[in-house]
Amino acid sequence: MGGGEEQRVREAFASNYIAPTGPMVDRFEALFSEAVGMPNVCALSSGTAALDLLFRELGVQRGDTVICSDLTFVASIAPAVHAGATPVFIDCDDATWTMNPRLLAEALLEAERKGARPKAVVAVDLYGQCCDYDRIEALCARHGVPLIVDAAEALGARYGARAAGDAGWASVYSFNGNKIITTSGGGMLASRDAGVVERARKRSQQSREAAVWYEHRELGYNYRLSNICAAIGVGQLAHLDTIIARKRAIAAGYQARLRDIVAISWMPEAPTGTSNRWLTILQLDPRLTRVTPEQVRLALEAENIESRPVWKPMHAQPVFAGARCHGGAVSERLFRQGLCLPSGAGLGDHDLDRVAAVVRACVASF
Ligand SMILES: *Cc1c(COP(=O)(O)O)cnc(C)c1O
Repeated sequence: MGGGEEQRVREAFASNYIAPTGPMVDRFEALFSEAVGMPNVCALSSGTAALDLLFRELGVQRGDTVICSDLTFVASIAPAVHAGATPVFIDCDDATWTMNPRLLAEALLEAERKGARPKAVVAVDLYGQCCDYDRIEALCARHGVPLIVDAAEALGARYGARAAGDAGWASVYSFNGNKIITTSGGGMLASRDAGVVERARKRSQQSREAAVWYEHRELGYNYRLSNICAAIGVGQLAHLDTIIARKRAIAAGYQARLRDIVAISWMPEAPTGTSNRWLTILQLDPRLTRVTPEQVRLALEAENIESRPVWKPMHAQPVFAGARCHGGAVSERLFRQGLCLPSGAGLGDHDLDRVAAVVRACVASF
């Protein structure tokens, strides 16, 4: 927390609007809309809920195909699979770690040849780096497939002049505890199409019709954000620029401290935009060192410092065994060679010194 969040929560309590919805939810939506420049947004209980509502809007069901980034968190695709869809995964580009447009083109052509147009493409702004909006949008438009941008990790990142999530048919953001800003748990659905957001808003509130009694023409969900959680979000948004500046400084700080170790490289920043550096991720080149990311992770763990492997690719997840994947070798290599370092905006320079010293000692010891 950056200070100010608790005051907003107290305001929410004082108004006696606790949940669901309320004035803080409206305020959070208005501030968020301004921050990302998206005119239509709907605050929800999670990013996963936002994706679920989008798949529902598209009518995703058994027999449908949904194309998704291979290197991501499972929530990018899980709601589509719950709805009965078959996932098809697309490897990332070595130079950006985001969806490889060439492989997406291949997948879309393959689908066209089979005569089965995918219901959606989910392209992920991985670790706070926007995927190649221009190329991916053009491909989706050419094949008539709606593009969902999963910007759960990317709030505040940019693609040229565009904000993360300002692309495709619709996008989602997450305010889970570990994301750029948090509402403890929460998410946002955004689209340039006001109808998409209005229908999602209705479905997130049990699809209640405009009647005095509870009238339902279709079934919905209980996915709206609570007024108390929105109050935390209002407080957090005031610190967004500071948080991103600190995230970027943390990435630069680790790189400066470990610059001389040739076996270490870092997640590249795409020339098309500005990453929010949600996490700082290193790669260990096995041709230049015998030290593995797991050995570094254990060395950090021994100092009570938490680190994590890169997302395990979706095509390698037991739950998606047998799923079609275009490419896959790049995401597998990033999983094998990568390690996400502590990246919380609350880390001080002294903390970076400590982490870097453990990494350095570990790499030197083998
Ligand atoms: C966190 C995350 C989600 C899910 O968001 P929740 O708010 O946790 O439901 C979806 N996609 C990606 C890429 C994420 O990192």
